[in-house]
Amino acid sequence: MQALFRPDRRSHSPDSAASTPDRRGRLEMRAVSPYPCPDVMTAGDTDQMQPFTFNTTKSLVFRPGAAAEMAEVAGATLGPRILFVTDPGLTKLGLYDAALASLRGAGTTVTVFDTVEADPSRKTLEAAVAAGRAAEVTGIVGFGGGSSMDVAKVAALLLGSGEDLDDAWGVGQAKGPRLPLVLVPTTAGTGSEVTPVSILTVGEEEKRGVSSPVILPDIAILDANLTLGLPGPITAATGVDAMVHAIEAYASANANNNPLSRMLAREALRLLGANIRTVVTTPGDVEARGAMLLGSMLAGQAFANSPVAAVHALAYPIGGTFHIPHGLSNALVLPHVLRFNAPDAHTLYAEIAADAFPELASVEGDQARCAAFIEALEGLAVELGMPTRLRDVDIPETALEKMASDAMLQTRLLVNNPRPVEERDALAIYRAAW
Ligand code: NAD
Repeated sequence: MQALFRPDRRSHSPDSAASTPDRRGRLEMRAVSPYPCPDVMTAGDTDQMQPFTFNTTKSLVFRPGAAAEMAEVAGATLGPRILFVTDPGLTKLGLYDAALASLRGAGTTVTVFDTVEADPSRKTLEAAVAAGRAAEVTGIVGFGGGSSMDVAKVAALLLGSGEDLDDAWGVGQAKGPRLPLVLVPTTAGTGSEVTPVSILTVGEEEKRGVSSPVILPDIAILDANLTLGLPGPITAATGVDAMVHAIEAYASANANNNPLSRMLAREALRLLGANIRTVVTTPGDVEARGAMLLGSMLAGQAFANSPVAAVHALAYPIGGTFHIPHGLSNALVLPHVLRFNAPDAHTLYAEIAADAFPELASVEGDQARCAAFIEALEGLAVELGMPTRLRDVDIPETALEKMASDAMLQTRLLVNNPRPVEERDALAIYRAAW
């Protein structure tokens, strides 16, 4: 086992090793073993130790039907007065009726805030906080896709700590404490139930993030029954979103890219790749829905600790300006960003190709397997019936330059890309995607 760890000695000067993880050294190790086992990283291997921090949601409940028993699962955590944050589509579907009945049946006072929109705005967050303050709530539930969960996370923060949102933007700025928080994803998905991130739309079109372990929830309830009625296009887009999380986490250039995230990303891709077609063609298959929910959660844990990069940076201007759903925005630029990254990342993409598409195991050579992986992702989008070009979603060619300059504002994400991206590169990627 020891022999599996072969850091690039050329790059390990005495002061560069453990304190400044070296990407070239790490890549070489991973080319040999994508699953470095912590047990062989003994204290004696100091120059092979890559420091990292891994945070996740402390309690995960994965069970069909668990949401209908919310009082038993989460009542004690949430306290007597709850703000239930969700969206109007789910109200219409009655998707959370059983959860409310469970809470109210146990004597809990529940205030429902159900006006969260896709790509939720700061204004919506402020309205949720006002509703929570008026009801003097003791806990928050975020029930829905990433939009509802993200609003619930920051509402819990602002209500619990009295912090100002403008002091909380960015990485590690939110201090807490927050109110008790329970998240219930109904898409599979963003993985927001296990990420320290909340994405809000500020002004007309800027997507901005709060990223701090403080907003990880106390409990995430993963109930596959809730996703059985998710329409095909949302199922496909959110499923590809989860695959993007796993791919970008695995290849992230962030110094905190770590063996746990890489292992989780691979298992996520295995589950998502094996089930994404089934959930679109057979929406009522609860096992496949459960596998997708699990896969999106694992991908969320992976990228929560090994952050995403240029696919997301280039997707944000598409979502922010043209209100294209987040997963679809990612899918539209995915193959073009991976092709751009391939000169620096083909080994990494080759490592994970067969996780998502087992038939690619027989493709010899990293470059060929990487190319086949990108083609397979393009083919998957077609198979799932997704639009594949920016023009298909009515983005005019004249918008591409502004989108490229907007994408460059996502420095928080671009620094994680395995290949540096300049504005001219972003424009070329958008042109290829158009
Ligand atoms: P969403 O929450 O915006 O919901 C999209 C639509 O799906 C809504 O109309 C909703 O009513 C409907 N829907 C949700 N669940 C349903 C169900 N079970 N049955 C029927 N309809 C259902 O979609 P999303 O893709 O989950 O979230 C996107 C948001 O999440 C974006 O704002 C994005 O920026 C954010 N995001 C956050 C993170 C994070 O880590 N916090 C990660 C990725 C994306």
